[in-house]
Amino acid sequence: MTDTIFSKIIRREIPADIVYEDNLCLAFRDVNPQAPVHVLVIPKEPIAKLSDAESNHHALMGHLLLTVKRVAEQLELKNGYRVVINCGEDGGQTVNHLHLHILAGRSLGWPPG
Ligand code: IMP
Repeated sequence: MTDTIFSKIIRREIPADIVYEDNLCLAFRDVNPQAPVHVLVIPKEPIAKLSDAESNHHALMGHLLLTVKRVAEQLELKNGYRVVINCGEDGGQTVNHLHLHILAGRSLGWPPG
């Protein structure tokens, strides 16, 4: 997989507003927020997109979801939040490093565009 801007954030080569980090993942604020709270949770392992995840990523995938919950608690998102994974071109994915969007702080419409 080619290097992306998210790999550079993991390596601290470009700045990011990091809200959580552990040995498996990193969470930081989106540079172009679509809601008052917009955080991205990414694995440190450079999996390009959800459809590239393999059975050996089983535990990592669960860890990413539990990290969403942890970050939501840390940021006190008491009124709820939305978790989004864009996958591939039609899914609207623009950065080829798997990431989970956490959106909160306003009432979110459904369905998404
Ligand atoms: P995607 O469209 O699901 O691939 O989401 C990529 C997200 O990454 C978008 O919401 C961008 O605003 C965000 N993004 C791109 N570059 C950066 C950055 O350098 N820092 C933080 N967020 C970024």
